[in-house]
Amino acid sequence: MTGEELWQAVLAQIQLSISPANFATWFKNTGIASVKGGEVYVSVPNSFTKEWLEKKYDKAILKILHSLDDAIKEVKYIITRPSALKIDKRKGEQSWLAQDQLEFDELKVDRETNLNPRYTFENFVVGPFNELPHAASLAVSKNPGFVYNPLFIYGGVGLGKTHLLQAVGNEVVKNVSSKKVKYVSAEKFISGVISSIKNQKMEAFKTQYHQVDVLVLDDVQFLAGKEKTQEEFFHIFNSLYEKNRQIVISSDRSPKTIPALAERLRSRFEGGMLADISSPDFETRVAILKAKAAERQLVLVDEIFEYIASNIQKNIREMEGALNRLVAYQKLQNQPPDAQVAKRLLKNVVLAPTRIATPNKIISAVANFYDLKEKDLVEASRKREIVWPRQIAMFLLRNELKCSFPFIGRRFNGKDHTTAIYAYEKIVREYQQNEKLGEEIELIKRLVYET
Ligand code: ADP
Ligand code: MG
Repeated sequence: MTGEELWQAVLAQIQLSISPANFATWFKNTGIASVKGGEVYVSVPNSFTKEWLEKKYDKAILKILHSLDDAIKEVKYIITRPSALKIDKRKGEQSWLAQDQLEFDELKVDRETNLNPRYTFENFVVGPFNELPHAASLAVSKNPGFVYNPLFIYGGVGLGKTHLLQAVGNEVVKNVSSKKVKYVSAEKFISGVISSIKNQKMEAFKTQYHQVDVLVLDDVQFLAGKEKTQEEFFHIFNSLYEKNRQIVISSDRSPKTIPALAERLRSRFEGGMLADISSPDFETRVAILKAKAAERQLVLVDEIFEYIASNIQKNIREMEGALNRLVAYQKLQNQPPDAQVAKRLLKNVVLAPTRIATPNKIISAVANFYDLKEKDLVEASRKREIVWPRQIAMFLLRNELKCSFPFIGRRFNGKDHTTAIYAYEKIVREYQQNEKLGEEIELIKRLVYET
């Protein structure tokens, strides 16, 4: 086995035993740098990952490697930047990028447009639940700026909004390569406004938006309550609209139900085409699963598709997650799972308890993420490395569960409620300014809700 195959086998096996969030956090950008004698050198992107793998996964990794090649006796972790790995790869040495295997999306994203080529109309399955938004998107992509403007697509999580928006962008670029398309999530847009204000680069920020032919703004509900950002967006919107440039927007709810949205923006949104995506029916769920499996060369009996489709009903992303597990199995065993094995592999996906947060789950996720003991997190320690995670935990208790500040204080060894307020407000401020923190909190939330 080459180092590449070895690591692929390790990843496939590990993926089965840990949550997708943990897997993505700790195994992204990892690979085998070299195999020398009985020693395997695993490349990792940073010291955080290195420590974590050494502490938590070293035994499991060694065990899998040893079972594949009993000459392997030891695993060492080295920090390597992905670019360095790539160069080695070109030289034909036994180095590779885990990204190639895991197909992490962000790698393929176009730097100019922010579009990910994997989202197209060709691989978008149409059923009664998304027929209207699909037809409207297609029409817009054929004739941007002149049919429905803006096009506003809304619907629940994991139902294909981002896919459709990106498909519009990709289709426009494909048809007329000179058209400038820009995809941006509302969160990115917000942080762009904030940092342009801070660095006095507002004009440059606006200019990049005034130049586009098609502006795609994803998850606009995040603009709720962000007055300054709403104002900037309003001006960009008007300027584009007047020039017949296309605007495509998504949201998890209708314009009417987005709280704290300026009336003038709401009426702009409602002035175009509103199209909602509801939940896919059983037949369409099966059709989507079949299409995704075919894409990934996974051959399954119908019973398995039906099993997944009847157990996961509200979220296409979760159905894909279930398929990923089966793909991992197929890679490892060189054969697809039969119905019985598949059901066993999917047990925790399908029987996942309702995804609700509890104070204990939040505290344990924060401790887990920062690699601390829960006890240290909630007790009186004033150690610097504990203070920050504790403030994050307090923030999440408030934000996710709306716990009262006195309750939060009590939960942390009887601290005063003002401490909880201070922590909450501090993280809120940081959150708005620091993109990294946003990502960190997102990962912790996934630990809370997905494990
Ligand atoms: P949302 O933005 O609404 O939360 P996404 O667009 O990210 O959802 O979709 C979640 C996943 O499901 C993506 O991988 C997407 O490709 C897939 N998906 C959603 N709808 C469809 C569809 N109709 N056909 C094929 N794949 C879909
Ligand atoms: Mg989305």
